[in-house]
Amino acid sequence: MLIEKNERIRNKGRETRNKRKTQAAKSFEIKLDKSKISKEKMDNLQRLFLEGKWFTNYIISKGITDSVPYMDYKVNKVNVKVKDKFEERELRLLSSQMKQYIIKRLQNNVKALHELGKKGKKVGKIKYIKSLHSIFLMQYGNTYALDVKKRTLHIQGLGDFKVIGLEQIPDNCDITTANLIERNGDYFLHVTVYVPKEEKVHNRKAIGIDLGVKDQITFSNGIKVKYNVEMPKRVKKLYKVFSRSQYNKETKERSKRGQKVLAKIKKEFAHENNQKKDINNKIAHYVAANYEFVAYQNDPIKEWQRFFGRRIYQTSIGGFRDTLKRKVSTPLEVGRFAKTTGICMYCGYSLHLNLSERVFKCPSCGHVQDRDVSAAYATKYEGLSLWNVGETLVDDDASTSSMLEYLKRIPHVKASIAGEARSPEQAGGAQEAPSVRVG
Ligand SMILES: [Zn+2]
Repeated sequence: MLIEKNERIRNKGRETRNKRKTQAAKSFEIKLDKSKISKEKMDNLQRLFLEGKWFTNYIISKGITDSVPYMDYKVNKVNVKVKDKFEERELRLLSSQMKQYIIKRLQNNVKALHELGKKGKKVGKIKYIKSLHSIFLMQYGNTYALDVKKRTLHIQGLGDFKVIGLEQIPDNCDITTANLIERNGDYFLHVTVYVPKEEKVHNRKAIGIDLGVKDQITFSNGIKVKYNVEMPKRVKKLYKVFSRSQYNKETKERSKRGQKVLAKIKKEFAHENNQKKDINNKIAHYVAANYEFVAYQNDPIKEWQRFFGRRIYQTSIGGFRDTLKRKVSTPLEVGRFAKTTGICMYCGYSLHLNLSERVFKCPSCGHVQDRDVSAAYATKYEGLSLWNVGETLVDDDASTSSMLEYLKRIPHVKASIAGEARSPEQAGGAQEAPSVRVG
């Protein structure tokens, strides 16, 4: 019987490993909705992390060795040091699986320290912890479960909790492990899921992208995208309160009130960052799903940040470029010094433009064009020739308007077609690349 069981587990493992090769891991953050959770359950959550801390310190006090596997996960009472005395505490919420993982994590830490020691690095000992901020939930369906319809998270031994953000989890995915996280008094679940790997597009369509400060993203098909996730006014007020709060030079700590306000500010920033990430992902996803070749310039965004500060911060176009690089089938990076602005997209005439000139009239053929669209267009052809892509498919009006529709539906995003700048592609003109030269 046992042999059969082992065989079954082995086969299952092999099956899973083969399946994972065709899948990609993704993780999502889900928030526990404090407003819809009873006080008793919130207390239990707090207690769970406390028990995790007690158990961690108990294992540390026993001494962690990486050679003898512990059986301590059956322990349900531990001694806790309170001031100078030890007191017994019951572990009533921390499950065996949670304990097993705490032990495993500590053993891994010891191993890592040994490795460092072997390399001649000075290593310390594992120290007692003051607080624990994450509890590993190893097995979906056992340690924890999610119910999309009821919008609940079930934690073994603790019951159901209302959560926000379940809609992010794709329909046909394999949910695996999760981490229950405590952050500034809020609770989150970081879930890892496996989804089928995205098929890379092979349609030989190409698009160029210009990143800027004013219109953040401009595409060679004439679409301009602006997005601003503004810091709400209350954050400015919080800053004021924080800067006035007491600072103790000796302990290097802010007053209780100051710390509380700082936690609130951090929360606002985290929320804003998530919104920006979400926007970046959505835009990059569309581009990657519809264009095989994506050209962009390796602009010194870090330097812009120094010049323009806040505005760049609000949009994080650097983050967009990184997301794009990761997602598209064939990224065509164009060097940062390649001349892409001030080139007429009709006749290829090149002139110098000041940063303030947003629209320019070609002195050679008289065509009026939007600065950023022509830059995106020049970037596209620079990329295609630099990487010897050869012939590409025409990007038609229909695909431009469906892209515009998609972008307009993303919250906080303003998408429009640059008025003056209809690229020759859209106008149905010649597909000949203009003679764009590196300046
Ligand atoms: Zn011209």
